[in-house]
Amino acid sequence: MESVKTKMNSNLDWRQVIGLDESMAELGRVMDGGRMHPIILLEGLQGVGKRHLGVWMVARMLCQQALGPASPCGNCGSCREVLRGIHPDVRIVDPEGDSIKTADIESLQEHFTMMSPDGLRIGVIMNAERMTIEAVNRALKTLEEPTEQVRVILTSSRPLLLPATIRGRCLRWGVKPPAKELVLSWLRDTLKNTGQAPETEEQLSQWAMRLRHSPGLLAREIEDSSDHRSGVLGDIHQLLTAAKPQEITRAAANLARVHKAKVPEILSAVEWELNRINRQDLTQSAHRGQSETEAFKRSNRRRLIREIRQQAILGKVTLNAQLVAESIGLCGWEN
Ligand SMILES: [Zn+2]
Repeated sequence: MESVKTKMNSNLDWRQVIGLDESMAELGRVMDGGRMHPIILLEGLQGVGKRHLGVWMVARMLCQQALGPASPCGNCGSCREVLRGIHPDVRIVDPEGDSIKTADIESLQEHFTMMSPDGLRIGVIMNAERMTIEAVNRALKTLEEPTEQVRVILTSSRPLLLPATIRGRCLRWGVKPPAKELVLSWLRDTLKNTGQAPETEEQLSQWAMRLRHSPGLLAREIEDSSDHRSGVLGDIHQLLTAAKPQEITRAAANLARVHKAKVPEILSAVEWELNRINRQDLTQSAHRGQSETEAFKRSNRRRLIREIRQQAILGKVTLNAQLVAESIGLCGWEN
Protein backbone atom coordinates (compact mmCIF):
# COMPACT_ATOMS: atom_id res chain seq x y z
CA MET A 1 0.00 0.00 0.00
CA GLU A 2 3.05 2.27 -0.06
CA SER A 3 2.14 3.73 -3.41
CA VAL A 4 -1.30 4.61 -2.15
CA LYS A 5 0.06 6.31 0.95
CA THR A 6 2.29 8.63 -1.00
CA LYS A 7 -0.44 9.70 -3.38
CA MET A 8 -2.37 12.92 -2.91
CA ASN A 9 -5.42 12.23 -0.85
CA SER A 10 -8.38 13.12 -3.07
CA ASN A 11 -10.45 13.07 0.06
CA LEU A 12 -8.60 16.22 1.11
CA ASP A 13 -7.98 17.91 -2.22
CA TRP A 14 -10.17 20.98 -2.52
CA ARG A 15 -9.36 21.23 -6.24
CA GLN A 16 -11.35 18.05 -6.86
CA VAL A 17 -14.59 19.57 -5.69
CA ILE A 18 -16.87 21.91 -7.53
CA GLY A 19 -18.96 24.71 -6.16
CA LEU A 20 -16.74 25.99 -3.38
CA ASP A 21 -15.40 29.08 -5.16
CA GLU A 22 -17.84 31.46 -3.55
CA SER A 23 -17.23 30.11 -0.05
CA MET A 24 -13.49 30.31 -0.64
CA ALA A 25 -13.70 33.89 -1.81
CA GLU A 26 -15.79 34.92 1.21
CA LEU A 27 -13.70 33.02 3.70
CA GLY A 28 -10.53 34.33 2.09
CA ARG A 29 -11.71 37.88 2.63
CA VAL A 30 -12.45 37.20 6.29
CA MET A 31 -9.11 35.49 6.77
CA ASP A 32 -7.32 38.40 5.16
CA GLY A 33 -9.17 40.81 7.40
CA GLY A 34 -6.91 39.62 10.18
CA ARG A 35 -9.80 39.14 12.54
CA MET A 36 -10.38 35.49 11.83
CA HIS A 37 -11.94 33.69 14.76
CA PRO A 38 -9.56 30.96 15.94
CA ILE A 39 -12.34 28.37 15.97
CA ILE A 40 -14.49 27.86 12.91
CA LEU A 41 -17.45 25.53 12.59
CA LEU A 42 -18.17 24.72 8.94
CA GLU A 43 -21.82 23.73 8.72
CA GLY A 44 -23.72 22.47 5.75
CA LEU A 45 -25.49 19.58 4.17
CA GLN A 46 -23.82 16.25 3.86
CA GLY A 47 -21.54 16.27 0.85
CA VAL A 48 -21.57 20.01 0.40
CA GLY A 49 -17.77 20.17 0.64
CA LYS A 50 -17.09 21.13 4.26
CA ARG A 51 -14.18 18.74 4.50
CA HIS A 52 -12.49 20.13 1.42
CA LEU A 53 -13.18 23.69 2.46
CA GLY A 54 -11.63 22.97 5.84
CA VAL A 55 -8.50 21.58 4.22
CA TRP A 56 -8.42 24.56 1.88
CA MET A 57 -8.44 26.87 4.91
CA VAL A 58 -5.58 24.94 6.46
CA ALA A 59 -3.56 25.12 3.25
CA ARG A 60 -4.31 28.79 2.98
CA MET A 61 -2.93 29.42 6.46
CA LEU A 62 0.25 27.51 5.72
CA CYS A 63 0.92 28.01 2.00
CA GLN A 64 4.41 29.28 1.29
CA GLN A 65 3.55 30.97 -1.98
CA ALA A 66 -0.10 31.93 -1.82
CA LEU A 67 -1.54 33.09 -5.12
CA GLY A 68 -2.94 36.30 -3.79
CA PRO A 69 -6.09 36.35 -1.73
CA ALA A 70 -7.81 33.78 -3.92
CA SER A 71 -6.12 30.56 -3.02
CA PRO A 72 -3.26 28.56 -1.63
CA CYS A 73 -0.99 27.38 -4.45
CA GLY A 74 -1.53 23.65 -3.93
CA ASN A 75 2.04 22.90 -5.02
CA CYS A 76 4.46 24.25 -2.44
CA GLY A 77 5.93 22.00 0.22
CA SER A 78 3.32 23.04 2.78
CA CYS A 79 0.35 22.60 0.47
CA ARG A 80 1.55 19.19 -0.60
CA GLU A 81 1.97 18.06 2.98
CA VAL A 82 -1.47 19.36 3.83
CA LEU A 83 -2.95 17.52 0.85
CA ARG A 84 -1.26 14.32 1.95
CA GLY A 85 -2.49 14.79 5.47
CA ILE A 86 1.08 14.77 6.82
CA HIS A 87 1.82 18.42 7.62
CA PRO A 88 3.50 18.51 11.04
CA ASP A 89 1.54 21.58 12.16
CA VAL A 90 -1.80 20.02 11.30
CA ARG A 91 -3.71 17.27 13.02
CA ILE A 92 -6.89 15.99 11.43
CA VAL A 93 -9.29 14.07 13.64
CA ASP A 94 -11.32 11.85 11.38
CA PRO A 95 -11.52 8.45 13.04
CA GLU A 96 -12.48 5.25 11.32
CA GLY A 97 -15.12 4.41 13.90
CA ASP A 98 -18.45 6.03 14.52
CA SER A 99 -17.47 8.34 17.33
CA ILE A 100 -14.69 10.74 18.17
CA LYS A 101 -13.31 9.66 21.48
CA THR A 102 -11.50 11.33 24.35
CA ALA A 103 -8.21 9.84 23.18
CA ASP A 104 -8.63 11.57 19.79
CA ILE A 105 -9.13 14.92 21.47
CA GLU A 106 -6.28 14.33 23.88
CA SER A 107 -3.96 13.62 21.03
CA LEU A 108 -5.13 16.83 19.38
CA GLN A 109 -4.46 18.76 22.57
CA GLU A 110 -1.01 17.27 22.76
CA HIS A 111 -0.47 18.50 19.22
CA PHE A 112 -1.54 21.99 20.29
CA THR A 113 1.03 22.12 23.06
CA MET A 114 3.98 21.45 20.76
CA MET A 115 5.88 24.45 19.52
CA SER A 116 5.75 25.23 15.85
CA PRO A 117 8.41 27.15 13.94
CA ASP A 118 5.70 28.56 11.70
CA GLY A 119 3.74 29.78 14.66
CA LEU A 120 0.50 27.88 14.10
CA ARG A 121 -0.91 24.67 15.50
CA ILE A 122 -3.96 23.64 13.54
CA GLY A 123 -6.54 21.01 14.36
CA VAL A 124 -9.41 19.85 12.18
CA ILE A 125 -12.27 17.84 13.65
CA MET A 126 -14.33 16.29 10.88
CA ASN A 127 -17.94 15.41 11.66
CA ALA A 128 -17.58 17.06 15.05
CA GLU A 129 -21.06 15.96 16.13
CA ARG A 130 -19.61 12.49 16.50
CA MET A 131 -17.72 13.48 19.61
CA THR A 132 -18.72 11.51 22.67
CA ILE A 133 -19.81 13.47 25.75
CA GLU A 134 -16.42 12.82 27.30
CA ALA A 135 -14.68 14.01 24.14
CA VAL A 136 -16.81 17.15 24.12
CA ASN A 137 -15.88 17.92 27.72
CA ARG A 138 -12.26 17.43 26.80
CA ALA A 139 -12.53 19.60 23.70
CA LEU A 140 -14.17 22.41 25.63
CA LYS A 141 -10.96 22.98 27.57
CA THR A 142 -9.16 23.83 24.35
CA LEU A 143 -12.04 25.72 22.79
CA GLU A 144 -12.57 27.87 25.88
CA GLU A 145 -9.06 29.21 25.96
CA PRO A 146 -7.23 28.60 22.72
CA THR A 147 -3.66 29.83 22.89
CA GLU A 148 -2.58 32.38 20.34
CA GLN A 149 -1.09 29.88 17.92
CA VAL A 150 -4.03 27.46 17.95
CA ARG A 151 -6.57 27.25 15.13
CA VAL A 152 -9.43 24.78 15.13
CA ILE A 153 -11.74 23.91 12.27
CA LEU A 154 -14.77 21.75 12.94
CA THR A 155 -17.11 20.40 10.31
CA SER A 156 -20.63 19.15 10.84
CA SER A 157 -23.67 18.37 8.76
CA ARG A 158 -25.70 18.17 11.97
CA PRO A 159 -24.44 21.04 14.08
CA LEU A 160 -27.50 20.95 16.32
CA LEU A 161 -26.23 17.67 17.68
CA LEU A 162 -23.26 19.56 19.03
CA PRO A 163 -23.72 20.94 22.54
CA ALA A 164 -24.50 24.65 22.63
CA THR A 165 -21.38 25.10 24.72
CA ILE A 166 -19.31 24.01 21.71
CA ARG A 167 -21.29 25.93 19.13
CA GLY A 168 -21.07 29.04 21.27
CA ARG A 169 -17.28 28.97 21.10
CA CYS A 170 -17.15 28.87 17.30
CA LEU A 171 -17.63 31.18 14.42
CA ARG A 172 -20.34 29.28 12.57
CA TRP A 173 -19.95 29.32 8.82
CA GLY A 174 -22.64 27.94 6.53
CA VAL A 175 -21.34 26.25 3.39
CA LYS A 176 -23.78 26.72 0.55
CA PRO A 177 -24.56 24.21 -2.19
CA PRO A 178 -23.58 25.13 -5.75
CA ALA A 179 -25.86 26.22 -8.55
CA LYS A 180 -27.68 23.54 -10.48
CA GLU A 181 -26.05 24.64 -13.75
CA LEU A 182 -22.62 24.03 -12.31
CA VAL A 183 -23.55 20.53 -11.19
CA LEU A 184 -25.14 19.83 -14.55
CA SER A 185 -22.06 20.77 -16.50
CA TRP A 186 -19.84 18.78 -14.13
CA LEU A 187 -22.04 15.76 -14.54
CA ARG A 188 -21.98 16.02 -18.32
CA ASP A 189 -18.17 16.18 -18.33
CA THR A 190 -17.84 13.29 -15.93
CA LEU A 191 -20.11 11.05 -17.92
CA LYS A 192 -18.04 11.82 -20.96
CA ASN A 193 -14.70 11.34 -19.20
CA THR A 194 -15.65 8.06 -17.62
CA GLY A 195 -16.91 6.67 -20.90
CA GLN A 196 -20.49 6.34 -19.73
CA ALA A 197 -23.26 6.14 -22.28
CA PRO A 198 -24.61 9.65 -22.79
CA GLU A 199 -27.72 10.37 -20.79
CA THR A 200 -30.66 12.32 -22.07
CA GLU A 201 -30.98 15.94 -21.02
CA GLU A 202 -33.89 14.99 -18.82
CA GLN A 203 -31.92 12.29 -17.04
CA LEU A 204 -29.03 14.66 -16.61
CA SER A 205 -31.33 17.20 -15.10
CA GLN A 206 -32.76 14.67 -12.66
CA TRP A 207 -29.29 13.61 -11.60
CA ALA A 208 -28.27 17.18 -11.13
CA MET A 209 -31.25 17.85 -8.91
CA ARG A 210 -30.41 14.86 -6.77
CA LEU A 211 -26.75 15.79 -6.57
CA ARG A 212 -27.27 19.46 -6.11
CA HIS A 213 -26.55 19.54 -2.43
CA SER A 214 -23.58 17.26 -2.44
CA PRO A 215 -20.70 18.54 -4.53
CA GLY A 216 -18.33 17.03 -1.97
CA LEU A 217 -19.51 13.70 -3.20
CA LEU A 218 -18.75 14.80 -6.73
CA ALA A 219 -15.01 14.71 -6.25
CA ARG A 220 -13.49 13.72 -9.52
CA GLU A 221 -11.33 10.71 -9.81
CA ILE A 222 -8.56 11.58 -12.14
CA GLU A 223 -6.44 8.64 -13.05
CA ASP A 224 -4.26 8.31 -16.08
CA SER A 225 -4.00 4.89 -17.61
CA SER A 226 -0.54 4.22 -16.14
CA ASP A 227 -2.09 4.43 -12.70
CA HIS A 228 -4.71 1.84 -13.45
CA ARG A 229 -2.84 -1.21 -12.36
CA SER A 230 -1.73 0.07 -8.98
CA GLY A 231 -5.17 1.62 -8.66
CA VAL A 232 -6.90 -1.71 -9.08
CA LEU A 233 -4.63 -3.43 -6.59
CA GLY A 234 -5.19 -0.65 -4.11
CA ASP A 235 -8.92 -0.85 -4.65
CA ILE A 236 -9.09 -4.56 -4.05
CA HIS A 237 -7.13 -4.09 -0.87
CA GLN A 238 -9.40 -1.28 0.14
CA LEU A 239 -12.52 -3.28 -0.49
CA LEU A 240 -11.17 -5.98 1.76
CA THR A 241 -10.16 -3.66 4.55
CA ALA A 242 -12.41 -0.65 4.17
CA ALA A 243 -14.80 0.02 6.97
CA LYS A 244 -16.37 3.20 5.67
CA PRO A 245 -19.16 3.01 3.13
CA GLN A 246 -17.72 5.77 0.99
CA GLU A 247 -14.40 3.94 0.75
CA ILE A 248 -16.18 0.80 -0.32
CA THR A 249 -18.28 2.54 -2.93
CA ARG A 250 -15.32 4.48 -4.27
CA ALA A 251 -13.20 1.40 -4.60
CA ALA A 252 -16.03 -0.63 -6.12
CA ALA A 253 -16.83 2.05 -8.65
CA ASN A 254 -13.17 2.30 -9.66
CA LEU A 255 -12.97 -1.44 -10.18
CA ALA A 256 -16.24 -1.46 -12.06
CA ARG A 257 -14.98 1.19 -14.41
CA VAL A 258 -11.61 -0.40 -14.98
CA HIS A 259 -13.07 -3.85 -15.55
CA LYS A 260 -16.08 -2.57 -17.44
CA ALA A 261 -18.31 -4.34 -14.95
CA LYS A 262 -21.26 -3.19 -12.93
CA VAL A 263 -20.82 -2.00 -9.35
CA PRO A 264 -23.08 -4.73 -7.89
CA GLU A 265 -21.05 -7.39 -9.70
CA ILE A 266 -17.84 -6.10 -8.16
CA LEU A 267 -19.39 -5.93 -4.71
CA SER A 268 -20.76 -9.41 -5.08
CA ALA A 269 -17.27 -10.70 -5.86
CA VAL A 270 -15.88 -8.92 -2.83
CA GLU A 271 -18.58 -10.42 -0.62
CA TRP A 272 -17.62 -13.83 -1.86
CA GLU A 273 -13.94 -13.15 -1.18
CA LEU A 274 -14.65 -11.94 2.35
CA ASN A 275 -16.63 -15.10 2.97
CA ARG A 276 -13.74 -17.17 1.77
CA ILE A 277 -11.22 -15.36 3.99
CA ASN A 278 -13.51 -15.71 6.99
CA ARG A 279 -13.88 -19.44 6.47
CA GLN A 280 -10.13 -19.76 6.15
CA ASP A 281 -9.61 -17.61 9.20
CA LEU A 282 -11.99 -19.65 11.32
CA THR A 283 -10.12 -22.85 10.65
CA GLN A 284 -6.83 -21.18 11.48
CA SER A 285 -8.07 -19.29 14.52
CA ALA A 286 -8.69 -22.59 16.26
CA HIS A 287 -4.93 -22.69 16.58
CA ARG A 288 -4.21 -19.04 17.05
CA GLY A 289 -7.26 -18.01 19.04
CA GLN A 290 -6.88 -14.35 18.12
CA SER A 291 -8.77 -13.77 14.91
CA GLU A 292 -12.22 -13.27 16.34
CA THR A 293 -12.08 -9.51 16.20
CA GLU A 294 -10.90 -9.57 12.61
CA ALA A 295 -13.61 -12.03 11.67
CA PHE A 296 -16.20 -9.86 13.37
CA LYS A 297 -14.96 -6.82 11.48
CA ARG A 298 -15.11 -8.74 8.22
CA SER A 299 -18.65 -9.88 8.90
CA ASN A 300 -19.67 -6.29 9.49
CA ARG A 301 -17.95 -5.26 6.31
CA ARG A 302 -19.67 -8.02 4.39
CA ARG A 303 -23.04 -6.93 5.70
CA LEU A 304 -22.26 -3.36 4.75
CA ILE A 305 -21.15 -4.38 1.28
CA ARG A 306 -24.31 -6.40 0.81
CA GLU A 307 -26.41 -3.38 1.74
CA ILE A 308 -24.51 -1.14 -0.63
CA ARG A 309 -24.83 -3.71 -3.39
CA GLN A 310 -28.58 -3.96 -2.91
CA GLN A 311 -28.94 -0.21 -2.94
CA ALA A 312 -26.73 0.04 -6.00
CA ILE A 313 -28.99 -2.43 -7.80
CA LEU A 314 -32.08 -0.45 -6.85
CA GLY A 315 -30.47 2.77 -7.97
CA LYS A 316 -29.06 1.21 -11.14
CA VAL A 317 -25.86 2.93 -10.25
CA THR A 318 -23.04 2.94 -12.75
CA LEU A 319 -21.48 6.31 -12.16
CA ASN A 320 -18.40 7.11 -10.13
CA ALA A 321 -18.09 6.41 -6.47
CA GLN A 322 -19.16 9.76 -5.21
CA LEU A 323 -22.28 9.58 -7.30
CA VAL A 324 -22.87 6.07 -6.06
CA ALA A 325 -22.51 7.24 -2.51
CA GLU A 326 -24.89 10.09 -3.10
CA SER A 327 -27.48 8.10 -4.96
CA ILE A 328 -27.75 5.56 -2.20
CA GLY A 329 -28.08 8.29 0.38
CA LEU A 330 -25.17 7.54 2.67
CA CYS A 331 -26.42 9.89 5.30
CA GLY A 332 -24.13 10.78 8.15
CA TRP A 333 -21.15 8.90 6.86
CA GLU A 334 -19.34 11.47 4.91
CA ASN A 335 -18.93 15.18 4.80
ZN1 LIG B 1 1.17 26.44 -1.31
